[in-house]
Amino acid sequence: MYIGAIEAGGTKIVCGIGNEQGEIIDRVSFPTLQPSETLPRIVEYFRGKELKSIGVGTFGPINIDKSSPEYGYVTTTPKPGWSNYPFLGELKKAFDLPFGWDTDVNAAALGEAKWGAAKGLDSCLYYTVGTGIGVGVYAEQRLIHGFMHPEGGHVLVRRHAEDHYEGFCPYHNDCLEGLAAGPALEKRWGVKGAELGADHPAWAMEAYYIGQALSQAILLLAPKKIILGGGVMHQEQLFPLIRQEVQRTLNGYVNVPQLAGGIDSYIVPPGLGDNAGLSGAVALGINALQEFAGQRNS
Ligand code: ADP
Ligand code: ZN
Repeated sequence: MYIGAIEAGGTKIVCGIGNEQGEIIDRVSFPTLQPSETLPRIVEYFRGKELKSIGVGTFGPINIDKSSPEYGYVTTTPKPGWSNYPFLGELKKAFDLPFGWDTDVNAAALGEAKWGAAKGLDSCLYYTVGTGIGVGVYAEQRLIHGFMHPEGGHVLVRRHAEDHYEGFCPYHNDCLEGLAAGPALEKRWGVKGAELGADHPAWAMEAYYIGQALSQAILLLAPKKIILGGGVMHQEQLFPLIRQEVQRTLNGYVNVPQLAGGIDSYIVPPGLGDNAGLSGAVALGINALQEFAGQRNS
């Protein structure tokens, strides 16, 4: 059985075909240009493939309220052409298939829970620390939505005493994303994150911010696993620093093995590696297919 998967990011779009084990059989990638250029490439890739459904995990914010006339829209993004764009609707015009639709990070959380680092668990959080910071929330065996999807990258954090960088979030300046996403590293230190040495003080400051956000999420949701992905998390030295920061900020209050001796296997990189987003989109597609079959049988 083949499931189509779309991982739509701010810089590139990855399309692929997966199976019910979450294995990726084929993939292509192209830059995220205006929808008028990008949509035809997506449609061309999937055309003629024998798919059962398609899952879309996309950059946001997006409308995920099925009762809304704007369901399936990308809403307020600054990306040229994508603001208020009916992404899902345009895909549905091209393919008469069940579609899964969620954020890239919710997709990744679902994929990790199905096949990756949180396999067998009924909850996890997936953070991406890249051009922005996004958080996917999987709890009690499903992805969490309220009036919209979670936007946990914009939580407020306490400022580091030695940080004089103002932050780049256009809405809040110094929210988590504004202080700790890839562009903040570059603007604060004057070089790209990838060029900072592993022992540079940038990483302790980075961990100070990410650790705080994780502690708040732990207090709020008590997730059974926290997975940290995205370009910045390729800096592996961040993991022990973030774990320490979580322990320091919680200060023993949450007394569970995951936050003591077990923390190395509690705050972890994606089990699916760089496939987390695409496999997650496959998982969204599988869920959409099951939902469709359920509706037909009821
Ligand atoms: P996106 O968020 O656009 O989907 P990424 O997750 O790759 O893509 O994030 C890109 C951001 O991560 C950029 O700001 C880049 O500078 C930063 N980045 C990428 N690789 C590394 C690295 N090895 N170390 C530190 N920062 C990195
Ligand atoms: Zn913000």
